[in-house]
Amino acid sequence: MPSRALCRSCCVLLALLAGATLATAQTASPTAKPRWYKGNTHTHTLNSDGDSTPDDVVRWYREHGYQFLVLTDHNFLTSVDGLNALHGADEKFLVVKGEEVTSPLGEKALHVNGLDVSRKVDQATGASVLEILQRNVDAIRGAGGVPHINHPNFRWSITGDELRQVRNNKLFEIYNGHPQVNNLGGGGVPGLEEVWDAILSSGVLLYGVAVDDAHTFKQPGNANVAGPGRGWVAVRAPRLEPRALLEAIERGEYYASNGVELDDLQVSPQRVHVAVKPVAWSKYRVQFVGKGGRVLSESTEPIATYVPKGDEGYVRARVLESNGRMAWIQPIVVASRGSGAEALAMTLAAAALLALLVQRRSRERS
Ligand SMILES: [Zn+2]
Ligand SMILES: [Zn+2]
Repeated sequence: MPSRALCRSCCVLLALLAGATLATAQTASPTAKPRWYKGNTHTHTLNSDGDSTPDDVVRWYREHGYQFLVLTDHNFLTSVDGLNALHGADEKFLVVKGEEVTSPLGEKALHVNGLDVSRKVDQATGASVLEILQRNVDAIRGAGGVPHINHPNFRWSITGDELRQVRNNKLFEIYNGHPQVNNLGGGGVPGLEEVWDAILSSGVLLYGVAVDDAHTFKQPGNANVAGPGRGWVAVRAPRLEPRALLEAIERGEYYASNGVELDDLQVSPQRVHVAVKPVAWSKYRVQFVGKGGRVLSESTEPIATYVPKGDEGYVRARVLESNGRMAWIQPIVVASRGSGAEALAMTLAAAALLALLVQRRSRERS
């Protein structure tokens, strides 16, 4: 998977010339004024194993404060034109088509969401987890869609090492609201936060999404079924349109949540700033995490800022709420200072540039 870090030599040169030491994982903001949109990228209907019609499912999200919803039935692409005609509203609500490309491998369940695919994607077969995941990711990209790899610990199907090796995939589920997906790991298998930090520490940039994976709309309040409203993303995008949303998500311009809302979020090479929208009586910890899952700093206030020093590898933030709810802010890559040889080469280049400028200036004077 391509890293978003700038080329190291370029970084070192830039750092020398501008006094900066950081490179960013996230590209410049879109030109239009971005807004926040709340959405869920993983939902089922009667078209696979959900218990409600697409109309009822979309209605639930429309009536519960979401701005977008992706319908992702197993190996089925539900048309969203009629749903958008009925429930869609400019800048207020949007249904995005999608599919959960679902491949079994023995007892394992290898599921990859294809967001905004242009056509139904046939599920791949293969001899290994990695082979099947890669084929499904490639097929989703081939259909113009954006992949995200789902619930790695469901039936203990996908290891961190396998997840790390998938190419052309930028997203995975850091949280899935289905009650049987083992988000936290167990029995010696790491939880998804630990998996994420191991992957990020290896130099592969992956963003975490939180989703409902909702199947059951007819048993509200039953925690033992996969109900709606548990995991979502808040995306900062220039407009409520499938491509604008998905491009923002693939740039990491969003946060994932299972119950914490943010008032403000600024992620730049200069600082990572998080402001929680506090709920009465809840208390918060904001943690900034770097390479190896190391907690770089922790704030017990709901507003916190971290200024990268340059040796963190990456910086991501998480918000821990006093009743167990969380928000996950996407990582930003922090480029290390160049190696001794690179630094020397760049110092020499800078010195040569300086000498050239001095030479030109003295010529102008004479
Ligand atoms: Zn699934
Ligand atoms: Zn699902």
